[in-house]
Amino acid sequence: MYRTNTCGELNLTNVGNEIVLSGWVHRIRKMGGMTFIDIRDRYGVTQLSFDLEVNEELYTQANKLGREWVIKVEGIVKERSSKNSNIPTGDIEIIANKLTVLNKSKTPPFTIEDDTDGGDDLRMKYRYLDLRRKAVRKNLELRHKMTIETRKYLDHLDFLEVETPTLIGSTPEGARDFIVPSRMNQGEFYALPQSPQLFKQLLMVSGFDRYFQIVKCFRDEDLRADRQPEFTQIDCEMSFVDQNEILNTFEGLTKHLFKTLKGIDIPDFPRMSYADAMKYYGSDKPDTRFDMQLVEMKDLTKGRDFMVFDSAPYVGAICVEGCAAYTRRQLDDLTNFVKRPQVGAKGLIYLRYNEDGSLKSSVDKFYSEEDLKLWAERCNAKPGDLILVMAGETDKTRKQLSDLRLEMASQLNLKDKNDFKCLWVVDFPLLEKDEELNRYFAMHHPFTSPKPEDMHLLDTDPGAVRANAYDMVINGVEVGGGSIRIHDRELQNKVLSVLGFTQERAQEQFGFLMDAFTFGAPPHGGVAFGLDRMVSLFAGLDSIRDCIAFPKNNSGHDVMIDAPSKIDKEQLDELGLSLVKLKE
Ligand code: ASP
Repeated sequence: MYRTNTCGELNLTNVGNEIVLSGWVHRIRKMGGMTFIDIRDRYGVTQLSFDLEVNEELYTQANKLGREWVIKVEGIVKERSSKNSNIPTGDIEIIANKLTVLNKSKTPPFTIEDDTDGGDDLRMKYRYLDLRRKAVRKNLELRHKMTIETRKYLDHLDFLEVETPTLIGSTPEGARDFIVPSRMNQGEFYALPQSPQLFKQLLMVSGFDRYFQIVKCFRDEDLRADRQPEFTQIDCEMSFVDQNEILNTFEGLTKHLFKTLKGIDIPDFPRMSYADAMKYYGSDKPDTRFDMQLVEMKDLTKGRDFMVFDSAPYVGAICVEGCAAYTRRQLDDLTNFVKRPQVGAKGLIYLRYNEDGSLKSSVDKFYSEEDLKLWAERCNAKPGDLILVMAGETDKTRKQLSDLRLEMASQLNLKDKNDFKCLWVVDFPLLEKDEELNRYFAMHHPFTSPKPEDMHLLDTDPGAVRANAYDMVINGVEVGGGSIRIHDRELQNKVLSVLGFTQERAQEQFGFLMDAFTFGAPPHGGVAFGLDRMVSLFAGLDSIRDCIAFPKNNSGHDVMIDAPSKIDKEQLDELGLSLVKLKE
């Protein structure tokens, strides 16, 4: 028998028991005549003690063990004289009477501790060792619980989990596809799904009514901290529902997850229109843990011969509480921050509302004390606050103010990882214009329904059409999004044509969907959540990588298995890749 117990469960109630434990040598402490070894498994750590006086042979054997060796130990549970209240097994130790080495280990390339000395690259190369660390394992335990609780909640509401295919056709909308060559049909290619979008809609046509799937999706995009080429969605679709029912159902799921996984009661989610999110936060995923809303200042700044403001269609500000005493140097740093290419602003104007009530700005030449007082009033500023003002083209400047707002929140430690502020952003525009290409793209995807009351604008002012589309945002992270779908062939055709599809291309790409709509498609809609983002948010992680067992690095590599990798010529020939003919 390898074990009677795990390494995480023995305590004072077990004193006197004869037990067997198996696990890894975590730490060895040699203290003249006594050797203590911590044995570790997934469940915890238990101290073993070996006494030279009591059993010399065993003591000598124990002293020959190394870190990460796999051992089995038989012994008796004894109360410890010096207890460790930091771990559940800290009141006891095992007086070993037999030790078996199950496998040796080389010295690991980094220490298997909560605070490891291993750098990112090394930990990725030896990910299986990294996963021995509690810090990483507990994220995967949380992930497991999240999927279990999601399944429970959705099953309870009659959702059916249905698998959809992973080898599908390429649709050149949205992100770039990962492509898989077909050996049996040479010169033809599958694509890996960016999401099961069309399949879940077809399941609604089939009458499945409520579908979900915890499913891998693939997007060939440049990677960032919160992106991986393959990621997992909690993908859902419902029939005979309006937007409100969908929002309520999945707000319920999120509340259920917070309650069961973190013991937190989340209040009802505020719902904010996209237009308001942009106006007050400069972002469609506002972080509402802190205030600092954008304030419009254009009317207050006009006509004082300050060209920067006069020539700009938009002037906006944020009021930063308690920062009037920021030094010249700190303000210069902020100016440099907004001038970085990632933010792209030309400059930054400040107004200090000093503790003594005086006002001092970087544009005193142009604006009187009276003017500046009005600025402060508009911003609801108190003595001691700092007002930061930017000007330029409306959307761009709002976005820049949003970047500045987030930066100030970081500097002021306002992003509390244990505070969770959830909301829905609703009424997204249906389309987004690419000015360079002079054409519209679907803001969500081409299957999203325009709001009925905006339908008439499709021909005259497509950019103004709002959609029944929504995102769930938590602490400034878009954790999920979805929409009410089009279920009418004519309307789908129409939207595709606004998106620049010719009749032929629309038919070729999405004919099967539009055909399906002619066979009694019910009204339907849905949503998908990014599981990786959700877990990393719950776990307070900075990167989604830390909640994925075997993630890819920033250049899309799995350095442990060395993928992607070159393949043999024979393999290429077999796939007919050397002979591929391009589509006209
Ligand atoms: N398929 C969409 C996405 O992946 C989500 C949805 O509309 O349900 O973003």
